Amino acid sequence: MTVGKVILVGAGPGDPGLITVKGLDFIRRADVIVYDRLIPMALLEEARADAERIDAGKLPQKHRLSQEEINAVLIEHAQKGKLVIRLKGGDPFVFGRGGEEVIACAAAGIPCEVVPGVTSAIAVPAYAGIPVTHRGIASAFTVFTGHEDPAKEETSIDYDALVSATRLGTLVLLMGVSRLSAITAHLIAAGIAPTLPAVCIERGTTPQQRTVVGTLGTIAALVDHAQIQPPALTVLGEVVKLRLQGDG
Ligand code: SAH
Repeated sequence: MTVGKVILVGAGPGDPGLITVKGLDFIRRADVIVYDRLIPMALLEEARADAERIDAGKLPQKHRLSQEEINAVLIEHAQKGKLVIRLKGGDPFVFGRGGEEVIACAAAGIPCEVVPGVTSAIAVPAYAGIPVTHRGIASAFTVFTGHEDPAKEETSIDYDALVSATRLGTLVLLMGVSRLSAITAHLIAAGIAPTLPAVCIERGTTPQQRTVVGTLGTIAALVDHAQIQPPALTVLGEVVKLRLQGDG
């Protein structure tokens, strides 16, 4: 039997309308769809009725699939000649472990393609009225993660580098809600003004979108008080004020 194919498709950040034309076409043609927890579930309704849908967030016994198990599932189905769509939140290569899946497929001799997606790092601020760059205000943006390997003792975030990045433009923090208090304290200690505008956005681009606006110094307490839950991201920078001006 001829070998199948694995296509990594970025599903966008939440609004089902933010899938690409190419990504939607692959969803409609899929034999097998292996999907993540954060994808817009409405997209699964676009798949063929006989397409196999596999929730990578759950094993049949309700365990979460490890990355190795996900790789194995992709390869196993492709080896049976299937068109396997790996549907991932946002863009597959922005903190999505897409690279690991491409490497695993290549090692197994499975053809693999990537369809980029609209990343939450840009689209979620946009839906909240915040451009990540803006002429005269921010000429760069830096996306970083607050979630690190729990096995590591020392923090690997280079806070001095983030201070420099803040001088250039905007910081966008992904996966950092539970560690927001420690991260903002570190940024202040490293030299960023506590008055720097900040916003945290929960479930951006969906009808459940919530935003909390503050400053680097206040945002962690405000987020805690509002009981913001993942998925949420935090934007730090003068661009946050554009939204405030818009509101006022
Ligand atoms: N590949 C994804 C990111 C995966 S990491 C992308 O490109 O968007 C998961 C993190 O993304 C979450 O912890 C959160 O910080 C952010 N995120 C994803 N979807 C989001 C949404 N709808 N609203 C706010 N943050 C979101």
